[in-house]
Amino acid sequence: MEIDLLRRLCETPGIPGREERVRDLIASEIDGLFDEVRTDPMGSLICTRSPTSKSRRAPARVMIAAHMDEIGFYVRHVDEHGFLWVNPAGGFDTRNLFSRRVLVCTSSGDFEGVMNPGGKPLHIATAEERKKVPEVEEFFIDLGLPARTAQRKVRVGDFVVMHEPFMEQPQKVVSKALDNRVACFIAIEAVRKIARSRATASRHSCELVVVFTVQEEVGLRGAITAANSVGADIGIGLDTTLAVDTPGVSETQRVTKHGDGVGIMIQDSSMIADHALVDDLCTLATKKKIPHQRCILPRGGQDGAAIQRSGPGARTAAVVCGTRYIHTVTESIDRKDLQAAIDLLAAWAPTVK
Ligand SMILES: [Zn+2]
Repeated sequence: MEIDLLRRLCETPGIPGREERVRDLIASEIDGLFDEVRTDPMGSLICTRSPTSKSRRAPARVMIAAHMDEIGFYVRHVDEHGFLWVNPAGGFDTRNLFSRRVLVCTSSGDFEGVMNPGGKPLHIATAEERKKVPEVEEFFIDLGLPARTAQRKVRVGDFVVMHEPFMEQPQKVVSKALDNRVACFIAIEAVRKIARSRATASRHSCELVVVFTVQEEVGLRGAITAANSVGADIGIGLDTTLAVDTPGVSETQRVTKHGDGVGIMIQDSSMIADHALVDDLCTLATKKKIPHQRCILPRGGQDGAAIQRSGPGARTAAVVCGTRYIHTVTESIDRKDLQAAIDLLAAWAPTVK
């Protein structure tokens, strides 16, 4: 596992609609892994690997979707003092937005800034004011620049991401954008594993289409058009999911548990997986001794739903990586679960007939 690639993926800014830097990085990393690579009109990167073994029937087409976008903001106003006001692109919990370092990406360069809600510091706030949780609209960004400079450099529509370095812990990786750069990483590493292997068992008779999608965080938008253009028979949504195996949450609400392996999603609010496909994935994981866990996410979705409902429909499942503290700058994934996701996809694709 080349963790440095995951680091670079996570530290590259790309919000819904502005995934181009992530796409360029991925395009440079997948050189030689696919037979055809193209960018669709919305910006998704569609990468096709032709069958490497013959089958008697017409090859099945498999689409694996991994979204490239991370939640972020668009600048909606630059005020007379040079402060920036933003509009969210993706779901933020404002309780996690206090005192954040951010990166404002503009055509004049990237600028480091700090984000805080308007209002008084603790020392002079009333008890009532201290209790209030502000709305996203109340947060502003301070670039530490003279007002005129900020006004000259930053335009409405420039984009903003959280600005925190990737962190490695002995058993975990932590970043602000594991959702969903980890899936981009898993897809690349799984195809690399298939491509590097000399074993006949790694040859695949299916056409393998990995799509690095755009605008998932605002409603699976890129996956919808990409899935319609690919026309897959079978689809896999590759994403993060909740691991709420942490204090303050009851065991019954865990979704997944860190270290118990790759998640195989049965149902979330966007999709009910094809149960035979779920069984195939679980049986294969057991046979190959790949740790895995079946899971259900009561609220939230992933790109697999778009594949399932594209064209005449497709058999679809979701393969997920349990993530603690999701949609914060401290998203955390267990390395064992990450490895299991790579191993499962690399083992599964060659079994598709
Ligand atoms: Zn996601």
